[in-house]
Amino acid sequence: MTGGSEHDKCQKQSDHFHAASYAFDTRAIHHAFSPVDYKRAVQPPVFLTSTYGFESVEANDAAAALGGRLYAREYNPTTEILEQRLANLEGAEAGLVVSTGMAAFGTLILSLLSQGDELLVHKTLYSNTVAMVEQGLPRFGIKVVSVDLSDPSNLDAAITEKTKLVYFETPVNPLSSILDIAAISERAHAHRVKVAVDSTFASPALQRPIEHGADIVLHSLTKYINGHGDTLGGALLGDAETLHRLHETGLRYITGATLAPHSAFLIMRGLKTLSLRIDRHSASALAIARTLEAHPA
Ligand SMILES: *Cc1c(COP(=O)(O)O)cnc(C)c1O
Repeated sequence: MTGGSEHDKCQKQSDHFHAASYAFDTRAIHHAFSPVDYKRAVQPPVFLTSTYGFESVEANDAAAALGGRLYAREYNPTTEILEQRLANLEGAEAGLVVSTGMAAFGTLILSLLSQGDELLVHKTLYSNTVAMVEQGLPRFGIKVVSVDLSDPSNLDAAITEKTKLVYFETPVNPLSSILDIAAISERAHAHRVKVAVDSTFASPALQRPIEHGADIVLHSLTKYINGHGDTLGGALLGDAETLHRLHETGLRYITGATLAPHSAFLIMRGLKTLSLRIDRHSASALAIARTLEAHPA
């Protein structure tokens, strides 16, 4: 490779954006997208297509072996950029985006757990996640064990041979209490059980659970990550093997809850200002808290 052409230069530049040496905000704007791959457009195109052409039966079989790339429930170039960008920001190997945060939870649980398995959760969860664990999962023979994980040692008594996953939010919706990701993960891993953290209330600008030992991160993209109140979305980030399973089982044939490519475009636009918005949210929240603390009532 001579490195002399315009393409090579741009390609090198885009490779740089994959490097962890770039800071968070630069990666939030540029990771996994090279203008040179898309006629030098600076914004990712929205690929509104339901299916893809292929050159030969052999090429199709080879692509299918990598995971479905023929049909837009399984593959879309616009949503793929968002998946890679979010995975990068969370320090995960791979990512999957789906239509809502609840679709992410459904994809996660229905892909990894079966009848007879147990799910261990923190006692407080987002209201619709509560509905899923109390009303939904028992209908399918999945037992949900609810414990107070503010004391991580409570996990030891609640975990059994049937426990397949530990799931909690931090900060917890709605009261924003904080759970100790590292302490909970250490105890779960001692029992060879994976840990998934709903990090929606923090966003990767404030907290990256994988850096603290968690295996999988869930986001409602509807909230801070998109940040403009104009679309729903959900994401799962984690190791490549688990994400392959979530993609090939959960998204492809259990939920089918694909994120619309236009929503992926909007979420990428929102993501660019995540840090700026979180700084303001945090400053405002602190000002309100100080005012309330000093208020006689
Ligand atoms: C909103 C929310 C969800 C669900 O996300 P939707 O995109 O609304 O489906 C899950 N977890 C938490 C913590 C939330 O706040």
